[in-house]
Amino acid sequence: MSHIPHSTPQPAALSLVALPAFEDNYIWMLHDGQRAMVVDPGAADVVFEALKRLSLRLETILVTHHHVDHTGGVDALRNATGAVVFGPLTETMPEPIRRLQGGDKAQAMALTFDVIDVPGHTSGHIAYYCDNWDGAPLLFCGDTLFSGGCGRLFEGTPAQMLDSLTKLASLPGQTRVCCTHEYTLSNLKFARAVEPNNAALFQYQQQCMALREAKVPTLPSTIARELKINPFLRSDQAEVVQTAKHLDPTAADAVAVFTVIRQWKNNF
Ligand code: ZN
Ligand code: FE
Repeated sequence: MSHIPHSTPQPAALSLVALPAFEDNYIWMLHDGQRAMVVDPGAADVVFEALKRLSLRLETILVTHHHVDHTGGVDALRNATGAVVFGPLTETMPEPIRRLQGGDKAQAMALTFDVIDVPGHTSGHIAYYCDNWDGAPLLFCGDTLFSGGCGRLFEGTPAQMLDSLTKLASLPGQTRVCCTHEYTLSNLKFARAVEPNNAALFQYQQQCMALREAKVPTLPSTIARELKINPFLRSDQAEVVQTAKHLDPTAADAVAVFTVIRQWKNNF
């Protein structure tokens, strides 16, 4: 991963909020008490409600990919607030939008976000990475990396997705991972089937079950945690390889292992 290090000025007290939308989406919002940005607003109503409740002005919208549960609220929010919208270079987007690809930077809320190309779920999917917010990095990764799982391969190949996940896995361990869906419990059920002897995974599952019982989001996760529990970041681990080989004895390398495990998840 070739991130050019840059120190981001620390704005006073930004808050990170997960706004629930639809069945299991989160629209992530960062605000400073006056101004706000949101990521992947699939719905406008929940964002309008939060802006009103917290007396915020929406300045910026970041979009990771073209699916309607990530873009459906963009036009209404832009029209009502004049917010600047950033999104991927190569996907169909609600115009006008500032187009970004890997290596580009986006400024929002006095933070600088590095854009990372993460094709796989969709072919032009991008992620937004800030190297320092509130003492640690922050990642908005759309439907690429979930806690305990990864996005379905609608437009990309397993090799592309594995490459994208490997880029994210190489970010600093303390990076807060803001995924767009609360899929954690079902992902962990599957992860346990892949790695029944992973003690960290078992422990994390217990923790997440308690959080969901209390209706608390399991997110953000961290890269360090995902490296310990997410089978899609662990194609080189003995138990994951063993499970893949049980399903397909010809699975020889990391891409083949990843492919077999992803395929199994589709039908789990
Ligand atoms: Zn999607
Ligand atoms: Fe989605």
